Amino acid sequence: MLRDDLCEWATRVRAGDRRAIGRAISAVENGEGVAPQLLKRLFTDSGRAEVVGITGSPGVGKSTLVERLAGEYRRQGQIVGIIAVDPTSPFTGGAILGDRIRMQTLATDAGVFIRSMATRGELGGLASAAHDVVTVLEAAGCGTVLVETVGVGQDEVEVARLADCTVLVLAPGMGDDVQTFKAGVMEIADLFAVNKADRQGAGRVEQELSAMLSISPRLDGWRPPIVQTVATAGEGVSALAGAIASFRAFGAQSGLLRRRQREKWRARLLALLRQELFERVVREQFSNGAIERWADELAEGRSDPHTAVAEMVRKTMGAAQ
Ligand code: GDP
Repeated sequence: MLRDDLCEWATRVRAGDRRAIGRAISAVENGEGVAPQLLKRLFTDSGRAEVVGITGSPGVGKSTLVERLAGEYRRQGQIVGIIAVDPTSPFTGGAILGDRIRMQTLATDAGVFIRSMATRGELGGLASAAHDVVTVLEAAGCGTVLVETVGVGQDEVEVARLADCTVLVLAPGMGDDVQTFKAGVMEIADLFAVNKADRQGAGRVEQELSAMLSISPRLDGWRPPIVQTVATAGEGVSALAGAIASFRAFGAQSGLLRRRQREKWRARLLALLRQELFERVVREQFSNGAIERWADELAEGRSDPHTAVAEMVRKTMGAAQ
């Protein structure tokens, strides 16, 4: 793509042009060759959004809560981005921004950009693409980006790395009692939302959470607040937004936010480096048939895979110099 076209594309993204933003996100997701060039242009002097991860088991009300939270931020005058990496999310399947969504209240709002991302089996790849999608949304002027993921193990950890703040959503009667939650999942939560507070048992979930938090206080001194919400009615949503803001203030003042962001960029650097080096070796060694020759050698018992890999890396690096 020509330089001028790239500049024009980046300018359109910055101006909030939905088509340009949609195309940029697709380019990032599909790993198109043009993506790094575009991202480079978007990255410089784009504002930084607060990335809020919303996670929890299917059915607890994450999507409903995300819709309400987005509405809350819109009322505050912010442009809002939503990334859904939840395979059970109603956003899933929408190829264009805001398309095929259940969230009718947001579908017609020009200040909301919604994108669903498919899980690709390989989580690292997803987190990496989501990271770049956040960059696009930041360039488009989003003040807050809500990232929704379903609570299944590794996913939460990846989201927590992407997010400045992670909200774990629970609901009474969902079978995920506090005791049954894996320790790692509880630990990444900066805030808890006990949704479906209109149902019996919300008080008990809150008590159990509160007891758990007293037993194992966080080392950074933050005590995660617990907010009861009724997402369907919008109750407790501004309190939740308030709690997210309090956490941000705590993070800014205590240095936690900066530490996290640094950690995020460090992980991002490592992931990119891993990908770049891997691709370089594969490009080089596949094109000259070395992979096939080594496979023969190994099958015939004439070498071992460690030697083969060391040799392939050595040759590629040598060739690059
Ligand atoms: P997700 O799978 O976590 O994204 O959950 P959804 O947002 O799709 O909600 C699952 C179901 O719970 C839907 O039928 C919602 O209408 C319902 N729901 C969401 N929030 C509440 C709530 O606060 N109270 C009640 N009673 N139902 C809710």
